[in-house]
Amino acid sequence: APEYVSALDMFRAGLLADPDGEAIRYFDGVVSRRELEEQSDALASGLLAEGFVAGDRLAVYLQNVPQFVVAMLAAWKAGGMLVSINPMSRERELHYLLDDSGASVLLSLEGLYDGVARHVVPDSPVRLVLTTSELEYQTEADPRLFGDTTRIRHEGTTDLTEFIERHRGQVPPPVTLTAQDTAFLTYTSGTTGQPKGAMNTHGNVVFTAMIYRDGARFAPGGSVMAVAPLFHITGLIGHIAISMLAPMPLVLAYRFEAGVVLDALERHRPTCTIGAITALNALLDHPDFTADHFSSFDSVYSGGAAISPAAERRFREATGHQVHNAYGLTETTSPMTLTPFGAESPVDPASGALSVGAPAQSTTVRIIDDDGSDVSLGEIGEIVAEGPQVVAGYWRKPEETAASIPGGALRSGDVGFMNEDGWVFIVDRKKDMINASGYKVWPREVEDVLAEHPAVREAAVVGVPDEKRGETVKAFVSLREGQHVEPDDLIAHCRERMSAYKYPRHLEIIEDLPKTVTGKILRRQLRG
Ligand code: ATP
Repeated sequence: APEYVSALDMFRAGLLADPDGEAIRYFDGVVSRRELEEQSDALASGLLAEGFVAGDRLAVYLQNVPQFVVAMLAAWKAGGMLVSINPMSRERELHYLLDDSGASVLLSLEGLYDGVARHVVPDSPVRLVLTTSELEYQTEADPRLFGDTTRIRHEGTTDLTEFIERHRGQVPPPVTLTAQDTAFLTYTSGTTGQPKGAMNTHGNVVFTAMIYRDGARFAPGGSVMAVAPLFHITGLIGHIAISMLAPMPLVLAYRFEAGVVLDALERHRPTCTIGAITALNALLDHPDFTADHFSSFDSVYSGGAAISPAAERRFREATGHQVHNAYGLTETTSPMTLTPFGAESPVDPASGALSVGAPAQSTTVRIIDDDGSDVSLGEIGEIVAEGPQVVAGYWRKPEETAASIPGGALRSGDVGFMNEDGWVFIVDRKKDMINASGYKVWPREVEDVLAEHPAVREAAVVGVPDEKRGETVKAFVSLREGQHVEPDDLIAHCRERMSAYKYPRHLEIIEDLPKTVTGKILRRQLRG
């Protein structure tokens, strides 16, 4: 049974246990738990004074800064929800997210407000704009991240720090949050249709934080390094919520910049993290990297995107640490399956896939065919998840909820299978399948084979139109520092290792593969 009803209770338990304990480290700045409590009390009181009521939405348009956590706690203390917005969102996207969520308050970085939000806010439900700076909570202003340190104030906006100071000492009236109340609205990236706001409840959040603690051993006594962006479900749970539950300090570094993250590892000596393998790879590729950067770690996880056995091996050789695999969606509030800490994920001999782990506690994973019936063990079908981490639905979208989460069981859109020992394997995303003359080619399998080549850093495979075959397989590859190889040699490497219909007919070497801020390779963009 969950230990706490709400994520706010979870934070408060840590606060009571050790009020002087560190909640957040941000460059040279430290925020104690007591300070976080006081600042979020003040912000919540201020919001209530401005007319915020239970159920209202506070949207954050921020990078990985301490203010993100202050706002999250304040939203809950005021009885509301946090809407987490990708800081890469441009005007059209931001407009949609504010409008769809009906957010009445927006907290934005000044730069993002000046560049994007101010054009959008007048025509949105937002009634109060709070702005803040990435320079708060620290004194260093690393030039790699913060080139221009001039503050930008706009009329009609309120400075967050001043707002907090104005309400300092005020305590909002107690709220009763239930496990069914929504903690976050997290938007899917919308590769299919408009983004949908997943309603992650307090019950979902408490449960998945427990998975990180008990299954992934993100344990008290350490600290967690934020590698993923906080707005994404990996950051919300695998960074923020676990830091509240453990409790342990959360290490923030504004946004992912390999050299800056390496410095943070040296300074803060964190013990656990989860991030996309592309981000972990970027750390290994940095000229300053040494194995010692990971010597403080106990537990390293990769999640949110596929990891090949070759990439896992490379990380292990470079750092001495296994990368455990975790699989989940925004709609499963982060993990539904994971490699339990210390266990070895098996590799499927037929497809070469590294397992994404076993179902988390109290979670049922089923594999179904197109008619919705369960397939036999080892057969492939769509992955369906049921458990305490599955969201209550999509915000104000009952039809989409009924289609994707019928009866509370989430249809993942991923194709996979389960072996007889209960390990789950992902074949690929259903919609990324390539149909070459009627043969099904799953990009991930080809990508994994390419990743075995010593010159290859990353690979992405897509289907491209072909007169003869309808579609044919094309690979995009980036190379490791100092490596040279001809496209034909890489094609030959695949041809030797896979059936004739699978190996790429076209291959392009490019400097860097396009990625989302969460580290997912954007096959969609490569399709052109
Ligand atoms: P959209 O569904 O709109 O494209 P998104 O890609 O941002 O949005 P997320 O919830 O961030 O959605 O990502 C979930 C997807 O990421 C899963 O459905 C799966 O395809 C992929 N994924 C997550 N973890 C893993 C993993 N460990 N291995 C392979 N794929 C993974």
